[in-house]
Amino acid sequence: MTSTDIKALDAEYVLQNYARFDVCLAEGKGCRAKDPEGNAYLDFTSGIGVNCLGWADDEWVAAVAAQAGRLQHTSNLFHTQPGSQLAQKLCQKTGMDKVFFANSGAEANEGAIKAARKYSADKYGEGRHVILSLENSFHGRTLAALAATGQDNFHQHFHPFPAGFAHVPAGDLAAMDKALDGTVCAVMIESIQGEGGVVPQSTAYLRAVETLCRERDILYIADEVQTGVGRTGAFLASDKAGIRPDIVTLAKGIGGGLPLAAVLFGQKCGAVLGKGTHGATYGANPVCCAGALVVMERLTDAFLADVARKGTMLKTALQALPGVASVTGDGLMLGISFAGGLKSADVQSAAMQKGLLCLLAKDKLRLLPPLVITDEELREGVAVLKSVLETLQ
Ligand code: PLP
Repeated sequence: MTSTDIKALDAEYVLQNYARFDVCLAEGKGCRAKDPEGNAYLDFTSGIGVNCLGWADDEWVAAVAAQAGRLQHTSNLFHTQPGSQLAQKLCQKTGMDKVFFANSGAEANEGAIKAARKYSADKYGEGRHVILSLENSFHGRTLAALAATGQDNFHQHFHPFPAGFAHVPAGDLAAMDKALDGTVCAVMIESIQGEGGVVPQSTAYLRAVETLCRERDILYIADEVQTGVGRTGAFLASDKAGIRPDIVTLAKGIGGGLPLAAVLFGQKCGAVLGKGTHGATYGANPVCCAGALVVMERLTDAFLADVARKGTMLKTALQALPGVASVTGDGLMLGISFAGGLKSADVQSAAMQKGLLCLLAKDKLRLLPPLVITDEELREGVAVLKSVLETLQ
């Protein structure tokens, strides 16, 4: 099929809820993809932080295909090797105690919210159920995850939301201190707000929030759906900040391109969700877990250190480009603000016409390249952005 045919089918039959780019992708390898007509693209998006090993990584494809040919799904009524092994690797890598597998970031956050409420209800009784999150945060599109999301534009049309959610301004420790009262069971935080515009929280703030939570037996939930799985150059962004969350949610990169999410529980709450309290039909799907095992094998300390190095290299190169006002973020999760009224959407669309795929986050150009991207590919992408900026200025 041609791009035109595919777009026509989409327009006629697919729910028009996405503002899709005017590009069809047909095949990819590593950080490069082609449309049906053979036009080539360099990828600085990784499917919004998902394809951490790029497209069609040889080992990942082999593991996924082998598992699909062996046993594609069983339900959680049975034990299977890929899920059990993946849970072991995740706990070994993070020091967490137990894992619940889900399918998406929002679903992982729902699991974390349920666990936090039950932890508190079991220990303290009713009335201590509020989940506190930050203004400008993003935690997913289901109703509870949206209630936790601190951006009003996502709330239009969908009221009423589940009760028991509150927000405080990001970075304001006094506001956090005041809000962490006897009604709160958990805080949910992104170390770097991704959809909110690649806005990092300071390490001092994150650590101070963690301390307040510890003192009051309030659970610290790190939403690492976007920052986790090596994105910032550490397996978890919390590792970099020296935070030990009670609960960590992962999705995006963990399956390397297949729908998989994980809720990691620390010792304090690893036994809270007992039999029958929570579940997901597809959770720990063996094919997704087989792909994730390859991701886990690949993300060695040396690999993560190299992600950090490439992130610093990319950030430095971007800061030197004409028209760039600032670059935020860490590792291979970067957001660019432009000076002189230059719009990120214009830069993004001009870059796409020159074969470079980039993302937007609020008013910034957002870059989430595959973690396996080479120095040469990074330089190539920066050169495209340079030529775009020289033309648009
Ligand atoms: N949490 C964070 C920090 C995210 O960035 C996202 C998605 O962008 C989500 C949750 C929701 O993930 P999903 O779209 O897989 O439900």
